Amino acid sequence: MARSSHLAVVEAAPEESADSSGPAAGTEIVISGARKTFRRGTLETHALDGVDLTIGAGEFVAIVGPSGCGKSTLMRLVSGLLPASDGTVTIGGHAVNGPQTDLGIVFQKPILLEWRTVLDNVLLQTEMRGMGKAEHVDRARALLAAVGLTDFEQRYPHELSGGMQQRVAIVRALIHNPPLLLMDEPFGALDALTREQMRIDLEELWLAGKKTVLFITHSIDEAVLLADRVVVMSPRPGKVERVIEADLARPRGLAARKATAFTDAVDMITEIFLARGVLHSGKAKPTLVGA
Ligand code: ADP
Ligand code: MG
Repeated sequence: MARSSHLAVVEAAPEESADSSGPAAGTEIVISGARKTFRRGTLETHALDGVDLTIGAGEFVAIVGPSGCGKSTLMRLVSGLLPASDGTVTIGGHAVNGPQTDLGIVFQKPILLEWRTVLDNVLLQTEMRGMGKAEHVDRARALLAAVGLTDFEQRYPHELSGGMQQRVAIVRALIHNPPLLLMDEPFGALDALTREQMRIDLEELWLAGKKTVLFITHSIDEAVLLADRVVVMSPRPGKVERVIEADLARPRGLAARKATAFTDAVDMITEIFLARGVLHSGKAKPTLVGA
């Protein structure tokens, strides 16, 4: 498709951009013994209970787990937005002791400024980071083209569909060429068809840049279809229950759903959730989850 050629442009841009912070390639994340307890007065919530996880440079890792198991908390520990109660997180060998700037974050809601155009929403990041807006216009346009938004750069958020708004949020997260992308249920508010297309396009984008991606979802299918490895979390307090390799050829596109490796991985994760009481099979055989 025509988009592929734009992806090459996106790749070339960081080299030319003198003020892009950090390397273009991914960076390693090491999480060791991470615990988090929230306290308010006498109330305590044990959100995370000793998470150990290493995410390789350029790796795409998905975290799947039931609601409330601590997925977002773990992401906030990695981003430095929240301190761990115990344990450590390092990014590229450096301890995370406060909010990290050399990463991009995408949440479930796009959180765009309604009074700014698509292009200016993307460039807001460069303004806030004091990176020079003008130097990043070409990169912003190349990224917007890579996600199919070439004709929409002068539109306002309310003129876009939910999926398009989320594409803008992804571009905004990548404009400063961070080595690490954190995504917290980024497609959670989208309809199933849009979600499938976003998944396919995200893989294409990732293959072009090979950033390290930590992708949180509660969709088993989505996790297996996107990730190199799927981290299955236990119910709260969250722990790493199992790490499953998603051994599927890339690009995975639509065809991967038919692969045995896909259905095997989905079945394996489903069995774990059934065993942990996260899912109940009802009367039928436990093969329906993720459909
Ligand atoms: P998930 O993203 O997996 O749905 P979260 O990480 O958001 O789960 O939350 C994990 C647990 O921690 C939940 O029980 C939630 O209520 C609790 N929690 C999250 N943030 C806070 C907070 N700021 N204060 C108190 N409890 C919190
Ligand atoms: Mg969450």
